Amino acid sequence: MTEKTHEFQAEVAKLLHIVAHSLYSQKEIFLRELVSNSSDACDRLRYAALTAPDLIEDDPDFKVVLEIDKEARTLTISDNGIGMTEQEMIDNLGTIARSGTSNFVKDLNEDAAKDVSVIGQFGVGFYSSFMVADKVTVTSRKAGSDTAHTWSSDGHGSFTIDTAERAGRGTTIVLHMKEDAAEYLDPHRVRSVVKTYADHIALPVILKATEEDGEDETLNTASALWTRPKSEISDEQYTEFYHHVAHAFDTPWITLHSKVEGVIEYSLLLFIPEQRPFDLFNPERSSKLQLYVKRVFITDECEELIPPYLRFLRGIVDSEDLPLNVSREMLQNNPVLRKIRSGLVKKVLGELEKRASKDTDGYLAFWSNFGAVLKEGIYEDMENSDRILKLARFHSTASDTPISLADYVSRMKDGQEALYYISGDDLNALRKSPQIEGFKAKGIEVLLLDDAVDNFWLSRQSEFDGKPFKSVTRGSADLDKVKSAEEDDKEDTQEESRNLSTLIACFKTALEGQVKDVRESVRLTDSPVCLVADDGDMDIHLEKMLKAHNQ
Ligand code: ADP
Ligand code: MG
Repeated sequence: MTEKTHEFQAEVAKLLHIVAHSLYSQKEIFLRELVSNSSDACDRLRYAALTAPDLIEDDPDFKVVLEIDKEARTLTISDNGIGMTEQEMIDNLGTIARSGTSNFVKDLNEDAAKDVSVIGQFGVGFYSSFMVADKVTVTSRKAGSDTAHTWSSDGHGSFTIDTAERAGRGTTIVLHMKEDAAEYLDPHRVRSVVKTYADHIALPVILKATEEDGEDETLNTASALWTRPKSEISDEQYTEFYHHVAHAFDTPWITLHSKVEGVIEYSLLLFIPEQRPFDLFNPERSSKLQLYVKRVFITDECEELIPPYLRFLRGIVDSEDLPLNVSREMLQNNPVLRKIRSGLVKKVLGELEKRASKDTDGYLAFWSNFGAVLKEGIYEDMENSDRILKLARFHSTASDTPISLADYVSRMKDGQEALYYISGDDLNALRKSPQIEGFKAKGIEVLLLDDAVDNFWLSRQSEFDGKPFKSVTRGSADLDKVKSAEEDDKEDTQEESRNLSTLIACFKTALEGQVKDVRESVRLTDSPVCLVADDGDMDIHLEKMLKAHNQ
């Protein structure tokens, strides 16, 4: 007896419980997940074989094979991909590797299975098999190894691992179908699910003949989607491809598909998600673009491919110029990649500019999802900072929806020389801030910068359209230069001033050592006092932030 029993990680046990009891109606996505995993496994082996060709010599044609056994009530999915070792099966099929997903699951309550949308919101991947099967076995043999193992579970708390036999490398998954999942034992149903969800998969997905004299049938188109002409690709196919590459489940807001020809040649198929992934700010999520070279998957961890401020992009880049045996080291400081990267940035910014003018609502939704990330580009990418600044949208005292800086400039008052802003981390508090009262009274718009990242780009970018940015918390706020409608009630009598200087002297004595100065101000209308910074000093919010970080 070599069988060993392992407990599932607590989050997996919880996830499996939710999956098995889920009311989610699109249970057929389990097949997409399994075929997608097989395709990934073949991609990874194809890449490994670039430097170790003997890994695939005896079996060079990658494929996924589906087999239905009505008697046994099983659906089997096999591939000749890279396979898994015993330890890899324990790790990959017993834990949740991505901490973002793991935290998401931790926060789900036990009733989540009743929430029909929950499964659709994040990737349940392999575990989705338990929506349709009450027992799953996975037999796998890693490429280059002689031994195989079988992982087996009914999804309740634990799984077993045992030694096994498998003719060649790869992975075979046998699903023992639940009573109510008999439809997946019907070849018509399986055919249509594969067509819908896996047509874009670049290797053949074959359905084994069920009758003795029948013929095996390739169910999908089996060519890389980005190599097909745009006119032959439907929106649904793009969306399914996006689900596959991005491990995402929404509909892309933007799909950019193009082939660039010239000094360097590459194809790109990029997506901007419609929804903000729940782990957008997780550092593990950095670059998730996939790099291909002449249709061969190379890596999805290529930092050089896109700047960090575009890390919300998903999709692929396929280069004709890089060598197939390109190594991690070669990818660093690679001139071809640098050119691709700058071309890609221009394409994406160009598309965003187009959308910003044509599809205001869509653009604002994009901005609320990813604006905080894109804004990093204002200080990280000097070459494109002006374009990004124009794409940026900000809250302001004069508008309920975020505005562009061009909007702001077009509304500037006669005599107004600067773009005024106030920064902080609570938008509501900013709107009520006493420091902006004088500006409001004069009808001067103030930008309300409520993102931490705003302080960073402001420290690099001193002006827009030739006009400086200026914090309202800075000393002399030039309010006198701007005329307001009711300007003429400025008959401050001598008497009032004298009283005020006595009062100010009192304040100065009382606050000595705690403030630099106490001054009379023209910018308050409702509040009695407010804190400001001196012209040469740091912005108040920035000072607070730095103090909080002990700097
Ligand atoms: P994901 O595909 O998002 O990583 P899954 O739950 O779908 O998550 O799969 C978990 C992991 O299990 C994969 O990352 C992979 O390492 C491994 N795996 C799953 N199916 C296969 C397969 N057919 N061949 C090799 N490895 C596999
Ligand atoms: Mg997967």
